[in-house]
Amino acid sequence: MSRLNLSVSIDSHSGFCFGVVEAIKRAEEFLDNGKQIYCLGQIVHNEEEVKRLESKGMKTITNEEYKKLKDAPVLFRAHGEPPHSYQIAKKNNINLIDASCPIVTKLQFRVRKAYLRGENVYIFGKHHHPEVIGLLGQTDDNAVVFQSLEELNLKQLPATITLFSQTTRNKKEYAKVINFLKSKNIQVKVNHSICGEVANRQPEIEMFCKNHDKILFIAGKKSSNGKVLYGVCKNVNTNAHFITEVKEIDASWFNPNDSVGICGATSTPQWLMQNAKKYLEDL
Ligand code: SF4
Repeated sequence: MSRLNLSVSIDSHSGFCFGVVEAIKRAEEFLDNGKQIYCLGQIVHNEEEVKRLESKGMKTITNEEYKKLKDAPVLFRAHGEPPHSYQIAKKNNINLIDASCPIVTKLQFRVRKAYLRGENVYIFGKHHHPEVIGLLGQTDDNAVVFQSLEELNLKQLPATITLFSQTTRNKKEYAKVINFLKSKNIQVKVNHSICGEVANRQPEIEMFCKNHDKILFIAGKKSSNGKVLYGVCKNVNTNAHFITEVKEIDASWFNPNDSVGICGATSTPQWLMQNAKKYLEDL
C-alpha cells in the first residue's frame, strides 16, 4: 500500500472541449500519414500536449514565420484567425487546414455583421488572446477590447453599444459587466457568446471541488479557460493547487487518506490527468 493512501478521482467533465478535440484530430490525420504540418500558434494552450504533437512532427510557427511560408500545409487552430491570415494563405498558396471551432466562426460572423451595420462593437476579452485577435479582425481592428470594467472610460462610452464576450470568459463576470453598463444608462445590445462547453463546466467543477479534501487543477499557463476554472475551484476549495505538469506535484500538500480530485481546463489532455492520478496513487 502507498504511504499516503490517497483516494484519487478525475472530474469526468474536465478535459478537451470538442473544438480542441477536432483540431488535434485534424493535425494527427496528417502526422500519422508521415506528413509534416505547420500550426499557426500553439494548437492548444497546453505545453505538454504541444510537446507530444511536436514529437510526431508538427511544427508550431509564429505569425512572422507564417507570412514567409509558401506552398505548405498550415493548420488554423480552434481559436480562429482574423481575415488577414486567410489573405496570406491565398497569396502564398498555403494548403489550409482550417480547424477553427464552428462556435468561434459563428461568433466571428456575428461580430462582423454588427460592425458592418455600423454598431459600436465592444468585446469583453483578454487583450492579445488569439480568439480576441480573430474577433477584432472582423471589425478591421475597430472594436474596443476590455478585460475589466476599470479599463473603460465611462465618460467616453457611446450611448449605445453592442457587447460580445470572448467564449471562455466567466459567466458571472460577464453578467456583472452587463448590469454595470446598464446601470449607467448605456443601451447595451447583449450577445451571449460564452461557449456552453465552458459555461456548463463552472457549476460542475464547483460541485466536484466541494466533494474532495484536496484539488489538483492541471492546465497550461496560457490557458484563459484554465485561469477561469481554477478561480472557480479555489473559491469553493481553498486546498486547490494549480500545476502544469506532474513533476510540480508536492507531496506535502496531502495528508494520509485525503480524497483528491483532479480536474482541468478545456485544453487539458486526458492523458495528463491520468498520469497525475497514477503519481498520486503511488505516493
Ligand atoms: S471552448 Fe467552446 S468555443 Fe472554444 S474551442 Fe472549445 S468548443 Fe470551441
